[in-house]
Amino acid sequence: MVIIACPCALGLATPISVMVATGRGATAGVLFKDAAALEKLARVSTLLIDKTGTLTEGRPRLETVEPVPGWTEQDLLRLGASLERASEHPLARAIVEGADGRGIELLPVSNFGSVTGQGVAGTVAGLEVLLGNARLLESRGVAVGALEERARARRERGETLVLVAVNGAPAGLLSVADPIRASTPPALAALVADGVDVVMVTGDSRATAVAVAGRLGLSRVEAEVTPDRKRAVVEEWQARGRPVAMAGDGVNDAPALAKADVGIAMGTGTDVAIESAGITLLHGDLGSLVRARRLSRATMTNIRQNLWFSFGYNALGVPIAAGLLYPLVGWLLSPMVASAAMALSSVSVIANALRLRKVPL
Ligand SMILES: [Mg+2]
Repeated sequence: MVIIACPCALGLATPISVMVATGRGATAGVLFKDAAALEKLARVSTLLIDKTGTLTEGRPRLETVEPVPGWTEQDLLRLGASLERASEHPLARAIVEGADGRGIELLPVSNFGSVTGQGVAGTVAGLEVLLGNARLLESRGVAVGALEERARARRERGETLVLVAVNGAPAGLLSVADPIRASTPPALAALVADGVDVVMVTGDSRATAVAVAGRLGLSRVEAEVTPDRKRAVVEEWQARGRPVAMAGDGVNDAPALAKADVGIAMGTGTDVAIESAGITLLHGDLGSLVRARRLSRATMTNIRQNLWFSFGYNALGVPIAAGLLYPLVGWLLSPMVASAAMALSSVSVIANALRLRKVPL
């Protein structure tokens, strides 16, 4: 009776499935850092998801160069990019790369100055150039009415606008957009079809966030969320009593990733985000999140089967070994048969777990 009651199979049931599933995940582009994440992912019904670098590529690109009459696209971009070369803003990089891509030679800049949150100013080829938002241009006495009018339409499409003025007069606008990852729309569609509520959580302006959400068919948006508030947003959703997953890539997402029931980091994101999350999507492919959920579900089913196997052996074996059937049919389990049954229970648990290696995702 002692021999058959050895709970080896019961002890193996969960860890062996988790181990095999973790390996299967790695081949499907998903790294599970802890077993809890693997187990909880299937139960998640709300996914909070960062925009920049998670739904989008996170690398803004120059979209359009729109000069006002009297200026050419080339000259407008040459002045803008020359000035931006001295700036460290991510938008500046997109504009400089855009000029490079179009083979535009940049000019030296003097008297460079930047106003945080507004833009930059400087002298290029003897011209006073201002580049930034409407607030910057207005503060230097430039009438931005017409330029802003044109900017608004583009902003509604999710682009970020930079206004340019030369010698105190509007010269045109440059627009920069962060393209949506190719894997995003099909992945979101699959998650929504699977009953997951997807909510965009972003620090970006409401106009940009709503525009991108609209293109992705997302109706729930939490915009203009400051970095220190992302974690609070996770807590608010958790307070509704449902398991919450959070996906993100940035340093600012890390506290929220750690707080969520399941934290999901983009492999293309920052190390801090990856450290804080239980799951990492290699190559930043959201499609692998859909596969991870299928794997999580398959793993939970597999663990339940294992528990039944091991429990079943014990439930049957222990009473027989204890002589329960002896008075009725004269059965008594010999120690040899008991140890074979015990070994067999472990083998069947392992064999069942190994099936996870082949599970289609
Ligand atoms: Mg981000």
